[in-house]
Amino acid sequence: ERQLLEQYRFLESVSADGHHVEIAGNIGKPEDVEMIIENGGDGIGLFRTEFLYMDRQELPNEEEQFTAYKTVLEKMQGKPTVVRTLDIGGDKILPYLKLDHEMNPFLGYRAIRLCLDKQDIFRTQLRALLRASIYGNLKVMFPMIATVEEFREAKALLLEEKQKLVVEGIPVSETIEVGMMVEIPSAAVIADLFAQEADFLSIGTNDLIQYTLAADRMNEKVSYLYQPYHPAIIRLVKTVIEAAHQNGKWVGMCGEMAGDEIAIPILLALELDEFSMSGPSILNTRAQIAKLSKTEIAVHLEQILSLTTANEVEAYVKKNLLK
Ligand code: PEP
Ligand code: MG
Repeated sequence: ERQLLEQYRFLESVSADGHHVEIAGNIGKPEDVEMIIENGGDGIGLFRTEFLYMDRQELPNEEEQFTAYKTVLEKMQGKPTVVRTLDIGGDKILPYLKLDHEMNPFLGYRAIRLCLDKQDIFRTQLRALLRASIYGNLKVMFPMIATVEEFREAKALLLEEKQKLVVEGIPVSETIEVGMMVEIPSAAVIADLFAQEADFLSIGTNDLIQYTLAADRMNEKVSYLYQPYHPAIIRLVKTVIEAAHQNGKWVGMCGEMAGDEIAIPILLALELDEFSMSGPSILNTRAQIAKLSKTEIAVHLEQILSLTTANEVEAYVKKNLLK
């Protein structure tokens, strides 16, 4: 089985009828890059930088972060590398920040909300990223964006730090794309407005599902409601992809759903550009897509979009689209 998959390691990510996609990897630490390269990833679709901040006593300084980002970019040798700025809060806490206890941490002070408030922390990360940008193909991504103002503010801070570095004579890449995660329903609904301002969108289904179904992704009691194939999720994903494409932008997915064999045919038909997942899923996904014809699946899309429940969607894909 592994040997069968091995043949896909150096192959392009392309469907049976010649439609190209990118299959990228998700990482949490610079050393995880090896696993993505070993599995033939086309890039990094999500570097969860919060792991650089965890399991320690204090914030990582600019130098430490610079080294981590430079290492990842160099190892990727010019392949697209999406680095997500600090997404702390929710289930991931930093004891040394001594934040107040919250009733609903997943709805609270986290990710971009914290970064826009504690700008010293955010600016340090942005500087480190900008300085590392000349070592590869960096794309910066902001997490948990709910409003257009948040995106604008985060981007403005990035550009401000860039300007400072330029004045200091420190080289910075001129081709850094600036994008955002679509993982809050408000952002998915107005994806057309975001797509005018962001260079790319990446759908974070792990959070998007929990917020859309109002079902805590960590709570076993309500896990039956955590439904990737719920028609609401499929419609939101479709909305986001179409909005991005109408504005000439590319769109990825970096939640678990991107590597889910039931979801993959649907995402291919919806013309998702980039699928980002854990290293071990990459070859399976490339093999699955290689056997699927996008034009053949597209014929089923209208039918899938008319189904009423997640179970119906799952049964339909299993019956008609798994090869
Ligand atoms: C997501 O929410 O889908 C995502 C990729 O981010 P995380 O799992 O780190 O919240
Ligand atoms: Mg998330």
